[in-house]
Amino acid sequence: MGKIIDCKQISLKIKSEVIEEVQKVKQDNNITPTVVSILVGNDYGSIYYHNMQDKTARELGINFIKANFDKNVTEEELLSCIRKYNDDKLIHGIMVLLPFPGNINKKKVLNAINPNKDIDCLTDICMGRLFKSDKIFYPCTANSVATIIDSLGIELEGKEAVIIGRSNIVGKPTAMMMLDRNTTVTLCHSRTRNLEGIASRADILISAIGKPKYINSNFIKKGAVVIDVGTSSLNGKITGDVDFDDVIDKVSYISTVPGGVGTLTTALLFKNLCEAVKKCI
Ligand code: NAP
Repeated sequence: MGKIIDCKQISLKIKSEVIEEVQKVKQDNNITPTVVSILVGNDYGSIYYHNMQDKTARELGINFIKANFDKNVTEEELLSCIRKYNDDKLIHGIMVLLPFPGNINKKKVLNAINPNKDIDCLTDICMGRLFKSDKIFYPCTANSVATIIDSLGIELEGKEAVIIGRSNIVGKPTAMMMLDRNTTVTLCHSRTRNLEGIASRADILISAIGKPKYINSNFIKKGAVVIDVGTSSLNGKITGDVDFDDVIDKVSYISTVPGGVGTLTTALLFKNLCEAVKKCI
């Protein structure tokens, strides 16, 4: 029977490291790490995320500034707000919550963030640098996957890693991070032929498709490590891509949904903020 990876424990460890770093820069440099989170409109999910991050930031000793804009804000107003925060030495991280209302050029607004303050890895520069193995910051979901895998302490070099899902925010950066760990990476998507056959070669299988319980034991090699990124709603419950009950006897390690990848992302975001502070000292 496979082991469930204790992601909560990993998250607590990262948070305690962040608390230590925050206290250190406060003592040594008289700096309070500060992030501004820009929210446009009243998307329910974004407001929830905004409030949750605010709460965690305060627990960690981080100053969290909420910049809320009405859905009718103009692109120019948003750009000038970002420029102002870019120039403000007391702001170390800038986040922009998505989605935006339709009239705003999302790419232009995100790329206005100073890459050295882009702790959510939203700019093309940040993402491009990751692809050149020269990261400014790691994107939080991909970093969560990689951190969970690293926590197992298993040899990764030369192993087969199969990632299902090729989105810019999850699949592609995760592929880059697995490549940097010297695994042999296969990136799959909805047009992949023989997905079962490819997935069942994987020593490490990462699924990020958002199809509840899609991955059953036919996709799993015996002894594989399985990381489930998917979060969908099934019968009113948050459910992962992986059919846990069907695969648990075949895997060596597995992350659950909920209680898996999502548990680490906020902690990793604030770890990025600590790195951003160091860039300012
Ligand atoms: P996305 O942009 O919708 O991308 C989904 C990817 O899955 C696409 O590349 C798509 O292929 C592929 N796909 C869909 N159905 C497939 C199938 N049957 N077989 C093979 N590939 C298939 O989604 P995302 O933003 O990457 O997110 C993926 C999942 O992770 C979602 O459930 C999301 O909620 C979750 N998520 C969780 C966290 C967390 O913190 N836990 C963070 C971010 C996302 P094509 O490219 O060919 O369309």
